[in-house]
Amino acid sequence: MDRRSGYWNREKETMPPAARERYQARWLADLLELAWEKAPGVRRRLERAGLGPKDLRGPDDLARLPVIKKSEMPDLQKADPPFGGFCTVPMRRVRRIFVSPGPILEPMGPEISEWHAETCLFAGGFRPGDVVINTFLYHLVPAAHELDEALNLIGCTAVPTGVGNTDTQVTVARAVHATGYVGTPSFLMTILQRAKEMGVGRLGLEVAQVGAEPLPESLRKQFEDEHGIMTRQGFGTADLGLVAYECPEKAGMHLVEDAVVQVCDPQSGEPLPYGQIGELVATVHNTTYPMIRFGTGDLTIIDDARCPCGRTSARMLGWRGRADEVTKVRGMFIHPRQADEVVARASGIAKYQVVVGREGHQDSLKFCVELAPGASAEAVTPRLEAAIRDVMKLRGSVQVVSAGSIPDGAKKISDERKWD
Ligand SMILES: [Zn+2]
Repeated sequence: MDRRSGYWNREKETMPPAARERYQARWLADLLELAWEKAPGVRRRLERAGLGPKDLRGPDDLARLPVIKKSEMPDLQKADPPFGGFCTVPMRRVRRIFVSPGPILEPMGPEISEWHAETCLFAGGFRPGDVVINTFLYHLVPAAHELDEALNLIGCTAVPTGVGNTDTQVTVARAVHATGYVGTPSFLMTILQRAKEMGVGRLGLEVAQVGAEPLPESLRKQFEDEHGIMTRQGFGTADLGLVAYECPEKAGMHLVEDAVVQVCDPQSGEPLPYGQIGELVATVHNTTYPMIRFGTGDLTIIDDARCPCGRTSARMLGWRGRADEVTKVRGMFIHPRQADEVVARASGIAKYQVVVGREGHQDSLKFCVELAPGASAEAVTPRLEAAIRDVMKLRGSVQVVSAGSIPDGAKKISDERKWD
């Protein structure tokens, strides 16, 4: 079976950037009109910003509307139950209500496919005829249901095995000749190991869509090289559905055409240029529950370089941590995960701490490092300086300190700036 070529919706996924902008401007205009009429929560936000639906003519205008933070949702919903005024349809047309931690309630409306997960599953190699064990949680939260529906849309058979019961997962996967897996990457590994212990040998899985936790490349390599399972991941939230997904190239996650995704300054909400780290803020084409300028609290970087797969959308370069952990240095955000990446690239470092300080009226960035046995300061320093430039887009200095100077459990980034 050819799992690597083709598109779920060729016309959309390969449209030139200008056509994508027109497409998004069109659905955005319709969505804002609808929300203005039917969703008082959206209307209140627009009015408070002094805006009407006609003021937001396209994705670029969205920056005029302040970001709504995920952390505000529980209070907003309490003030205007049950959905905070964000649902456009009456209760009798709501098919399901999900309950996410917070608690935050999410309605699933009468339309199918408002989470755009089929685009993601198809790009990740799922094909009609696949029999798929869906190991996401089937109660309270939406992920399992969204993917279940998307599997059916593609023409796959879904087996709602849910979370846990590893032995049952193995037995069922064998009994139904499952070819696909949906769930977390760590649970896929648990199932594969259990199958081995049970003497089942190869389970026969060929394709996996994983999410809800980071996918380390080393783990993906095991799935793909040792078990022959094409493994791809997507990014989404309970509020937004799927907003980005990997293609066969597995080099970042393509943004779906039915979401306007911006990377924004986590403090001001201003959109940042491509290539800079910031908070993922999305507006999604969901006519039941239109989240407009919704701040996820997740950090990412977007790259608009063309992908060899033929899809023309920009790509989200992985999850880079939480917005509440960032530190701003000379106008650029840095995050503990970026610091880890810098150190991994440089090699020869046993322990480190990043110190942000002030020199005159300038922020300074310094990596204090304890060397690994056998490493020399002469070799490590230039490598580290280059890695800081590449990963953080900043100039930083390096100070080699003696072993034991950095206390255990020290913060990865220590902000020592004084502002008085
Ligand atoms: Zn691609």
